[in-house]
Formats: sequence, structure tokens, C-alpha cells
Amino acid sequence: MSNSNRVSKICPVSNRCGGCRWIDKGYEEQLNVKSTRFRKLMEPFASPEAIIGMEHPFHYRNKVHAVFGMDAKHHVISGTYEEKTHRIVPITTCMIENQKADQIIGTVRELLPSFKIRPYNEDTGYGLLRHVMVRVGHATGQIMVVLVLSSPIMPSKNNFVKALLSVHPEITTVVVNVNDKRTSMVLGDKEQVLYGKGYIEDVLCGKTFRISPKSFYQVNPVQTEKLYGKAMEYAGLTGRETVLDAYCGTGTIGMIAADNAKNVIGVELNKDAVWDAVQNAKRNEIANIRFYQNDAGKFLVEMAQQGAKLDVLLMDPPRSGSDEAFLKSVSQIKPEKIVYISCEPDTLVRDLKILTKNGFQVRKCVAVDMFPFTESLEAVCLLTRQ
Ligand code: SAH
Repeated sequence: MSNSNRVSKICPVSNRCGGCRWIDKGYEEQLNVKSTRFRKLMEPFASPEAIIGMEHPFHYRNKVHAVFGMDAKHHVISGTYEEKTHRIVPITTCMIENQKADQIIGTVRELLPSFKIRPYNEDTGYGLLRHVMVRVGHATGQIMVVLVLSSPIMPSKNNFVKALLSVHPEITTVVVNVNDKRTSMVLGDKEQVLYGKGYIEDVLCGKTFRISPKSFYQVNPVQTEKLYGKAMEYAGLTGRETVLDAYCGTGTIGMIAADNAKNVIGVELNKDAVWDAVQNAKRNEIANIRFYQNDAGKFLVEMAQQGAKLDVLLMDPPRSGSDEAFLKSVSQIKPEKIVYISCEPDTLVRDLKILTKNGFQVRKCVAVDMFPFTESLEAVCLLTRQ
């Protein structure tokens, strides 16, 4: 464990920011620690394949978010909140964030005074600019800048965009998001496109995906391809299967599976994500996929009641894992294969215990390092019926 009071030579603010607790650990060592932890967790089930790490583990985050404020000398600063406080840790460069995104945020910082735009002050409620979010399409190079404002009225917004674009012509879209609530949520509901299409696209495993300001999209695209590649290898689709992509987000995994399946059903709770998923399917001309907005547990209970058949279940739940209703219905529907993608090994193990009690067996598993320099561990497991 790293000592949180020690200042790293690699990043002077890492101890206060907390975004890369393992910054001083060599990458090989990080992989060893993760691998050992995963092997131990999976001991009751199966022996994992070798962990899949990154060749170049720096600057992998394609979504960068900065909160804006002022320091004691009234200089504009941007960065992240110090853990459990509302003090801003100023960040100018970051070892895990996309470098272009950090440069763009730096330019916004520099432009603000000449446009007389003040950062929002949480205590007083005065000021305009709350956050800036930058998302970069890894394969396409498209870049989206989202300016989160406390009010819909931005003085000389067109000139501001012009100035930003003259420094960074690579920006493809600029969106204003209005968050006028006293809340820790970053994005509000209202949006206005100032430049470009209002979204970017990225390519994953040969499919093109639309990323809106609020869309969920994996933050490490290089590793996501490896993760989805493993999921597809485990699914072993032949073109004859009915596949369910549960907790499908914007439909990425299901769409990648659709080429090699008879048909795919995607289920997702978040309305915006489902909308993106439908657009993504159209964009990629995938006709054998349908999306439903529903709680995955409720949806599966209905499927089980209707006696629906399912060959392969792909599931990628949030950190809290799946739930009883879902797992119970899985044992009634009895798919041939389950591919479980997990971003939280503790809930993965909890859910595997239930599935293995209910007639499934873990055949293969592997950890994929989606977040170098952090403790988080992502994994894929293949289960088949006993
Ligand atoms: N498979 C997608 C998204 C995985 S993240 C991808 O790889 O991009 C987990 C997703 O589960 C999120 O999109 C979240 O909105 C969704 N989710 C959370 N709880 C849910 C529930 N009870 N039912 C359905 N979807 C849920």
C-alpha cells in the first residue's frame, strides 16, 4: 500500500487527488498484485488465465473531467476535489489522462479571464463555469468539449468557441451543459450545442459508437477492445444463437456479438443509454438486435415467465453486481453459456456463488487491467451448464 502522505516524484498531487494511488508502483508489480488477488478470489471456481495488461499504461483515460475554481490569489484553477472535501486540487497534467484533453482544459483556464468568465463558487453560488469535460474518440480522433455552466447565459460564447478552436482546431464539437442546482452531480439536464454535432464517435471492434455528453462509454478504449475480444472468445458464437446483452449501456457488446449471432436482445435501465444504443444499431446497420429499457432483473423474470429461450447470456452489471431476481431467472432460463464481465470482483464472487449453486460451472476466467495505477480490477468469466 502506498503511503498517502508521501509526495510522488512522478506526480506531485497524486496523494491529494487520489486518482492514481499506485503511481509509484512499477507496472509489472501492479499486474502481479492484481493477478494474485484475482487468483485468490477465483480459487473456489477456476484457475485464471494470465492477466491482460497494457503495453503503454499511461494516459489511457479518454474522458477527462475538471472542476473549476479560484485559488487564494484569484487565479483560475482546475482539477479535482480533494477526497471527502470540496477543496480543489489544481491539476495541469496527469499521467493517466489523455494529454490532449488536459491541454484543452489548460486553454480554457487561460481563456477565462480575457472573456471575463468566472469559475463558479460553490459557497457563494456566484460565477459561471463549473466543470469542463473532454471526451476523445481514440480511433477517430474526434474531440468533444462540454462546458458545464451554472446559467444558460454565456457572454460572447461564439467568440469563446472561436478562440478555443483557434488553439485546438482538432476539437470537433463544443456543448454547453447547464447545471443550475447545488449538487455534486457534474451534468445538468439542459444542453445546447455551440459547435459541431453535439456528440463524437469512436470505433471499437470494427463498430462505430456515438458518444453523447452523458453516455456511458468505457474510459480505456485500448483495453476495452481486449476485454470485449475475450468476451467474444468465451461466447464462441456460431451465428445460430439467441443472445441477451444484459446491462448493455449503449449496446457495445451486443452489437459486436450481433455479427455472429442469430439475434441479440439488449436490456438497460438508463433511458439515454438505450437511445444511444438504438442510434448505434442504426448507424452500424445491425438489423438483428433489439433494445429494451428496463431493470435487468425484472426483464429476466418476465423472460423466464414467458418460457423464453436463450443460448448465451452476456452480462456486464455495475459495481453493485447483479441481483437475486436476475440470477434466479437465469437458472430457470438455463442459457448454454454465461459470459460475466465484472468491474468489481467482490460482487462477481458473490454472484458466482449463486450461479454455481444453481447448476452452472466457471470454465474460464481472466482479469483485464482497465485502470492501470489504480487498484480496480476488471474480469471476464465463462460459465456453462453443469
Ligand atoms: N456493457 C456496457 C455498460 C456496462 S456498465 C459497456 O460495456 O459499455 C453497467 C450498465 O448497467 C450501466 O449502463 C447502467 O446504467 C446499467 N444498469 C445499472 N443497473 C441496472 C439494472 N438494474 N438494470 C439494467 N441496467 C442497469
